[in-house]
Amino acid sequence: MNPWIAKALVLAGTAVMIAIRAPHGQRNRSVKVATSYKTPLETGLLILAWIGFLVPLIWVASPAFSFAEFPLFIGPLVTGVMCLAVGLWLFYRSHADLGTNWSISLELHEQHHLITQGVYRRIRHPMYLALALYSVGQALIIPNWVAGPSNLVAFAILFALRIRAEERMMVEGFGAEYAAYSTRTKRLIPGVW
Ligand code: SAH
Repeated sequence: MNPWIAKALVLAGTAVMIAIRAPHGQRNRSVKVATSYKTPLETGLLILAWIGFLVPLIWVASPAFSFAEFPLFIGPLVTGVMCLAVGLWLFYRSHADLGTNWSISLELHEQHHLITQGVYRRIRHPMYLALALYSVGQALIIPNWVAGPSNLVAFAILFALRIRAEERMMVEGFGAEYAAYSTRTKRLIPGVW
């Protein structure tokens, strides 16, 4: 199959992702931060996430990764599109449910409310599940060993090194309320983990 199908899908997915996040990023600038948990590690992880996000776009726009191409097949393409679509829907819903409580890095706001409803009802990290699905989708869609898994690798590192710090921050901020929320929810996969 022509890799341009994959390139068009990567561009469309990226555009939708930016359209979902942009208004939240804009609004977040005027939200007052009560406590920031932004460490040098956290800054490094955000830079890594940006690199993971940009590599597929470099693949679309240039022959930089042509040494790592392989043929595109219909099975992975269709599965990848489904992961991408579900991931983007969940990305949209988790932003909508978090509202002004969302931030790109770890921080608690002056008027921070603990969200436990909507897509946060059964799992504590639906936005990370959305990013995981999106990254798996890209890995299946992009027929290139470098650009395909780039988002997935960056996200896996970010998730592994951030999740405990984020949950510690939430316990510090919300105490028993977050502890109770944690006992009735899972982290990423409803009913499993
Ligand atoms: N880990 C969550 C949110 C990622 S955004 C998810 O995957 O859905 C990161 C910010 O969201 C954190 O800095 C924290 O302030 C905020 N946050 C995370 N979970 C929250 C919740 N249940 N209610 C309110 N804010 C939350």
